[in-house]
Amino acid sequence: MMTICVKIMALRFGRSARLLRNCAAFSTKLPIDSRHVTQKLVFSEFGDALKVVRQEEEPLPAPKPNEVVIKMLAAPVNPADINTIQGVYPIKPPLPAIPGNEGVGEIEAMGSEVVGLQKGDRVLPKGVAWGTWRSRAVCDANDLIKIPNQLGVVEAATLSVNPCTAYRMLKDFVKLQPGDTVIQNGANSACGQNVIQMCKAWGINSINIVRNRDNICELRGYLKDLGATYVFTEEEVRAIDLFKKAILPKPRLALNCVGGKNALEMMRHLDQRGTMVTYGGMSRQPVSIPTSSLIFKDIRVFGFWMTRWSTVHESSPERVDMLDDIVQMMVNGQLRPPAHKLVAFNNYKEALSNTLSSKGFTGMKYILDFQKD
Ligand code: NDP
Repeated sequence: MMTICVKIMALRFGRSARLLRNCAAFSTKLPIDSRHVTQKLVFSEFGDALKVVRQEEEPLPAPKPNEVVIKMLAAPVNPADINTIQGVYPIKPPLPAIPGNEGVGEIEAMGSEVVGLQKGDRVLPKGVAWGTWRSRAVCDANDLIKIPNQLGVVEAATLSVNPCTAYRMLKDFVKLQPGDTVIQNGANSACGQNVIQMCKAWGINSINIVRNRDNICELRGYLKDLGATYVFTEEEVRAIDLFKKAILPKPRLALNCVGGKNALEMMRHLDQRGTMVTYGGMSRQPVSIPTSSLIFKDIRVFGFWMTRWSTVHESSPERVDMLDDIVQMMVNGQLRPPAHKLVAFNNYKEALSNTLSSKGFTGMKYILDFQKD
């Protein structure tokens, strides 16, 4: 088994930079092409993404000694990006702003004092709301996380939000053991697909709830192929008798990104002292918790926000370990990227309008592809 380590974290760069600044072995200084320009998406006011986001071209400054030029390869359009542009997300970047919270780029050139990175290395932004929807960027080398080049572009571009969210929610709230059961709604979301695959890899049963649709058999098949133990539609959830018949233990953890009745039905199936973690509200319906569940079942209820976790743990060993684990699972084929469509950067409106749809049923993650015309 190939061992790949994300040994890279900018926290390590800081120290090595001082130690190795004048080391010839690391002085892969590359000529800076002053003609570099970037094509970027930008918004100057909050509002409807299709109306306020525009495309602009801008010359890039030459990188300072500690900076690099990155050529972006791919960046997904996530619901949170749309909410940020709408001004309804807790992160409100100063305007004008470049949208895009995650994505992968390749080092194209670097300043004279950058160490530990070379031309062609693949990198992710370390911080949140970095602005990935641009063809090129100049930034401080310490603001980047180097990842193994073996990772596929789509896996790398979608690494830092949904797989990390799934990982933390499965690790941080309940000490799950092989054989335990997790129940989740929005199971076909990018995050849900990661939950399914991590559960499978860790020997945990997953009960997966999706909305009914014409091609439900196809969706069930897709999720089962990822490793889902069971897939139910919202209408089928109440009648689940797997626990009464002792086919599976009752869930110890419920993951909710939908809210409303769907979340309530999930909570009914939780075991005594079970935990529900809410991380999204796709139905826009509130989560109501029956008083009896709190008192007689001692149900615990939490929220989770990856952005907060990443900010608090920006350069922490836990983050390094998490990324190492996720990269390893991707390289081993245990973690596939979500169903997706790559869209040429110039066709960004297609990606925005599909992610915007309040009806859902999009069926895939839209990813801006900077290499496609
Ligand atoms: P995707 O775009 O991959 O998936 C969206 C999911 O939402 C699909 O399962 C879709 O199901 C469902 N959905 C869409 N509209 C509705 C609706 N009106 N009612 C019920 N379900 C609906 O999303 P992500 O995986 O990127 O994100 C999923 C959720 O998780 C979002 O709410 C996002 O904000 C949240 N999230 C939160 C994070 C955190 O840190 N708290 C981090 C990552 C994601 P269908 O196919 O039936 O339309």
